[in-house]
Amino acid sequence: MVEAKKERHPFWKPTLEWYSNSLKKCGCGGTLTDQPLIHRDHVGGWWVGGFKYRQWLSVKCPKCEREESLTRFDVKGKATFEEQLVEEIRFYGHVTTFVDGYTSQQLEAWLLGKG
Ligand SMILES: [Zn+2]
Repeated sequence: MVEAKKERHPFWKPTLEWYSNSLKKCGCGGTLTDQPLIHRDHVGGWWVGGFKYRQWLSVKCPKCEREESLTRFDVKGKATFEEQLVEEIRFYGHVTTFVDGYTSQQLEAWLLGKG
């Protein structure tokens, strides 16, 4: 039997709780589901119910205490991989995303080469 597809209102925006609930596990094995999200206004971020502007969302793992952007966990938002790296450089001064086989310096060089 085919389940009826749930239609969402076109103006529906997922809430912070929805995003938080969609998280699974951190790379270290820590459980991220329903962890409180860290959010702030950012044009490259996600639409969140109850917020006027897009929000940059990240979560702090309760086990390894690393703060990671939700793009890291394949949560669909506006931010692309490139936008995420640019944001990390702007906010932390360097790339914080770990990509297997690349140093953060190599990622930054790759990013600059694209622009
Ligand atoms: Zn972790």
